[in-house]
Amino acid sequence: MDDQASSRLVIYTLLEKLVKCDQVASAQEAFEYCAEDPPDLILMDVFMPDINGHQACKTLSSNPKTQHIPVIFVTGSISDAEQEKCWNAGGVDFVQKPVNATTLINRVKSHLTHKIKTDLLEHLIYTDRLTGSYNRHYLEDSLPDITRDSVRDNTPLSLAVFDIDYFKQFNDEYGHLEGDACLLRLARTIKDALLRPMDRLIRVGGEEFLVILPDTDENGASTVCKRVITAIHQLAMPHKKSSLGRVTISGGAATYRPHKPDTIDDIMLKADQCLYKAKDNGRDTFTYIDAEGRVQDEAQ
Ligand code: GH3
Ligand code: MG
Ligand code: MG
Repeated sequence: MDDQASSRLVIYTLLEKLVKCDQVASAQEAFEYCAEDPPDLILMDVFMPDINGHQACKTLSSNPKTQHIPVIFVTGSISDAEQEKCWNAGGVDFVQKPVNATTLINRVKSHLTHKIKTDLLEHLIYTDRLTGSYNRHYLEDSLPDITRDSVRDNTPLSLAVFDIDYFKQFNDEYGHLEGDACLLRLARTIKDALLRPMDRLIRVGGEEFLVILPDTDENGASTVCKRVITAIHQLAMPHKKSSLGRVTISGGAATYRPHKPDTIDDIMLKADQCLYKAKDNGRDTFTYIDAEGRVQDEAQ
């Protein structure tokens, strides 16, 4: 990112053989670019009109969606004061203009390698090995941020919990390997039933899943529950030991609304209570809290 085309071209020419790179001419364009498809590394000019490089870097660092993108400053001056500003703004490194080709390439390589390793580590920490969905660590680390987004945007945030019906009997009948294969298939089916990119599937326990539905109200949550339960019912996976004859799942959902008394933990508890009610209602169904706060069983 540099307002001077010639300066961008020098860097672009040096890096294009090494990595896929794009150029933008202002901080505003960089924000739009990052919102669309966050890059693995940004080279940022310090002196730009409107928003300078330091401010742009601070803005990126304050947004959870862009805060992990490392920024290398490209600066005319490397005075002590300037270096201080680069570090304070959240930069991971800086290179001096005119750039030294070898230094630039090696710094980019080194920071990209670090970013790839960090991303891989994060993926391993937050991913459930069996199903490929997110795990409980992800839930613990991300739910506060997701709740904050809901408060900031003043949008409802729905949580839906699902639990496989009579799964102990499934394992007893077909064995643990079949049980694992079943879990994988069900996780994929739930995932496919989530249509928005912001929706997230988390395996919270053995055969229990949580779906986080940002910007989704009570009706939306009910629609998703219905879609998930129907999709699994329609898989028609045999389950001899279930009174339903096939593998089914039950669900419960509740919706967090900013500025209402219920905290996100209260909402999680309510979703769980709805799940128990769905189990009591015979399984292969769901229960949710509607917009008036009433417990609603799935319309039969
Ligand atoms: P309900 O309909 O009331 O939910 O009954 P359930 O049998 O599904 O519930 P329960 O919680 O009693 O049993 C959960 C079972 O899920 C225990 C275990 O056999 C199985 N299970 C949990 N995690 C795994 C796993 O990772 N792999 C396999 N194969 N089975 C698992
Ligand atoms: Mg269970
Ligand atoms: Mg179960």
